[in-house]
Amino acid sequence: MDAGVLNLDTLLLVQVCVTLLTTALLVASACYTESPPEQRWWAGGNVLVCVGLALTGIESLPVLLHGVIGYGVIAFGLALALRGLRVHCSSTLSWQAIAVITVLALLIPGWFTLVAPSLRARLCFSGFYFALLNWLCAVVVARHGVWRVSIVSLTGFILLGLALFLRGVHMLLHVDPMDHTSSLVMGLSTLAIPLAQICIAFGLIQMVMWRYAERLRRLSALDALTGALNRAGLETQGKRVGLRALRAGRSLAVIMIDVDYFKQINDNHGHPVGDEVLRHLARLLKVELRPHDLMARFGGEEFVLVLDGVDHAAALNIAERVRARIEHEVVEWDGMSVRYTASLGVVCSDQHSYDLFRLIAAGDAAMYQAKRAGRNRVAAG
Ligand code: GH3
Ligand code: MG
Ligand code: MG
Repeated sequence: MDAGVLNLDTLLLVQVCVTLLTTALLVASACYTESPPEQRWWAGGNVLVCVGLALTGIESLPVLLHGVIGYGVIAFGLALALRGLRVHCSSTLSWQAIAVITVLALLIPGWFTLVAPSLRARLCFSGFYFALLNWLCAVVVARHGVWRVSIVSLTGFILLGLALFLRGVHMLLHVDPMDHTSSLVMGLSTLAIPLAQICIAFGLIQMVMWRYAERLRRLSALDALTGALNRAGLETQGKRVGLRALRAGRSLAVIMIDVDYFKQINDNHGHPVGDEVLRHLARLLKVELRPHDLMARFGGEEFVLVLDGVDHAAALNIAERVRARIEHEVVEWDGMSVRYTASLGVVCSDQHSYDLFRLIAAGDAAMYQAKRAGRNRVAAG
């Protein structure tokens, strides 16, 4: 390929436009009041990188700005973007680390500008150093991201790192660092940089959107008070568990649990205590469950457990263990101590079908049998 095809001035103009546009995109997406903190780090980091690029690119500026501070500002911006990525992955990057990254980018170009002036050495350093910072970003994304979500930004960081690295190599090998006219490397890297920037900006936004979508999906399936599945969550996940048990030929047990005289708890101690009893019951049930069992809040003070691979006798044992634990627990709230009991109904696919809603209806009938028999007991359906 002839380097002439890649007109360097045009490509540079494209690079500047894309840098400004992707920065504007990240800033705009960080401006929502509810935007997560990482978006602000990415936006701030990108703005600083733009400022740094402008400083290093305008040769008429004082040498301290042009040859030293510009590099420090770029490094500071990249360090903030790295911090944002780590924040996105539930970690952070300390201010000491950010300071080290920035100071290195001031000291080394400073040396090659003020002490032993060498444009070539400065450009080599910036190519390699900024490549390294982009690859560090790639490592963070690769380690913590879900591949199908992070692949776009990961590609962007790797590509940008590669383009900058090749520029460093080009500077190292060429006698005149400013003679780019015939260089294919310079043309290709100037083409690759805006492409990588677009990948990074869209990839980062995609990562945040996916996080939002996951949170919404979880919230729509969970009960806000207890963290148990709600009816919608039970419907979708219960069907899946039922089908899995049916296909594998395993028993599927359902246990319905209803707090006894719950209205009295509310009336005697107030609604907040009633709420705490519900949270307490959900915590207690969770401890009794295996990771793949389901627990849902079926109504006000009624919970349902769906147990894959548990037959009728084992389900009765589990229900009795739960009933006894509930009876012996004390709920503490605001200086008050409250005890409560529950009635449980147990059914199994061995006696009924694998249809979850038929099992729940049968479990409910068994639970009401336990109520009629005097409460605080287990009844089999
Ligand atoms: P039983 O032993 O027959 O089950 O009697 P109960 O009092 O437990 O049942 P009932 O259906 O009469 O009362 C249930 C109460 O649960 C009525 C309702 O105000 C209360 N409740 C429903 N949802 C919530 C909630 O989220 N928080 C609180 N604190 N109370 C709730
Ligand atoms: Mg009740
Ligand atoms: Mg009830």
